[in-house]
Amino acid sequence: MSLINENFLELQDSYLFTNIARKVAKFTQENPDKEVIKLGIGDVTKPIVPACLEAMHKAVDEIGTAEGFKGYGPEQGYDFLRKAIVENDYKTRGVDLDEDEVFVSDGAKCDCGNIVDIFAQNNKVAITDPVYPVYLDTNIMSGRSITYLPITAENNFIPELPKEKVDMIYLCFPNNPTGTVLSKEELKKWVEYAKENKSVILYDAAYEAFITEDDIPHSIYEIEGAKDVAIEFRSYSKTAGFTGVRCAYVVVPKSVKGYTTDGKEVSLNKLWNRRTCTKFNGVSYAVQRAAEATYSKEGKEQIKANMKAYLENAKIIKEGLEEAGFTVYGGVNSPYIWLKVPEGMTSWEFFDKLLEEANIVGTPGSGFGSNGEGYFRLTAFGTKENSIKAIERIKQTANKLK
Ligand SMILES: *Cc1c(COP(=O)(O)O)cnc(C)c1O
Repeated sequence: MSLINENFLELQDSYLFTNIARKVAKFTQENPDKEVIKLGIGDVTKPIVPACLEAMHKAVDEIGTAEGFKGYGPEQGYDFLRKAIVENDYKTRGVDLDEDEVFVSDGAKCDCGNIVDIFAQNNKVAITDPVYPVYLDTNIMSGRSITYLPITAENNFIPELPKEKVDMIYLCFPNNPTGTVLSKEELKKWVEYAKENKSVILYDAAYEAFITEDDIPHSIYEIEGAKDVAIEFRSYSKTAGFTGVRCAYVVVPKSVKGYTTDGKEVSLNKLWNRRTCTKFNGVSYAVQRAAEATYSKEGKEQIKANMKAYLENAKIIKEGLEEAGFTVYGGVNSPYIWLKVPEGMTSWEFFDKLLEEANIVGTPGSGFGSNGEGYFRLTAFGTKENSIKAIERIKQTANKLK
């Protein structure tokens, strides 16, 4: 008899995006003359930039030659990319990493989910609420108990240190879904907490490239001592539009330790390396060359232009909503705008109103956790034209939305 992992039965079914799709399909069918603007998706829309495309084309041609053929590559990633990451993403911010502390992967989602393999089941895990669901669901699948850290307007979206001791802490800043950030001062508190409690911080910096303000850390390693307690996740998905191409990486410094039950220190880098070699085949050569090209002069400029365009959309949406009388968070260092739904309305009620009155699709905050109730997420990943149009409609229908 093949017994199942019963933790899977503890997962809550996620109907969020299915429900949204169903409601939008029904509305479009009943109102074929109305043009619906989608500001709900968390996917980018700008095509892969020329610098990355060129590098990828070149790599594809190369593997068609006897000299350039590549078979199985190193599971941890090719040296050229690990080196480029260390030089460009870290050295420029005063962070020294060794190349073997960087593991190239096919996604930060996979990394955030897979990292739990190297930790014991009885670790206590702290996760913000609302949250990117991957951290939560992967820990439920492996049967860990969860401590929720509310992030709401009441605490300025700054999670408070847990009262009970936790062993693993997931932090994502700039945050999805709220679009808010942590200052160096705030992040320092978490690093100190982790040191005191021998915990590990799992820091998701997937939106690092959207940071515009000073004093907002791009990497947790900008905080002194973080290399002893933190693992960091990065992705080319939102930055370089690699959501379909697939490339990301995780940093596991050699100084981050885990512990055996009898208190012996073990290097997490060693464990993660072993796990990677056993279960992963590495990212394809052509994709890693494309990722490398994000650090070329042209690549950097082209990507910067895309970031700027998304952030302009965010500004249009944020300021427009404020002019229409809404309370709005995020949208400055992030492509996400998190708005407070009008008093007395639920997130889903606002979803329906916004769709019916303004023909705009967003994401109900309650879909990201119970503390997301009363909030609503809009994204800046659409076109400028649509962002402007959406705001015009919201302004025109503002009195009907409340
Ligand atoms: C989009 C996103 C990622 C990136 O995931 P990939 O698997 O690299 O595409 C990671 N974390 C968060 C919070 C995200 O929103």
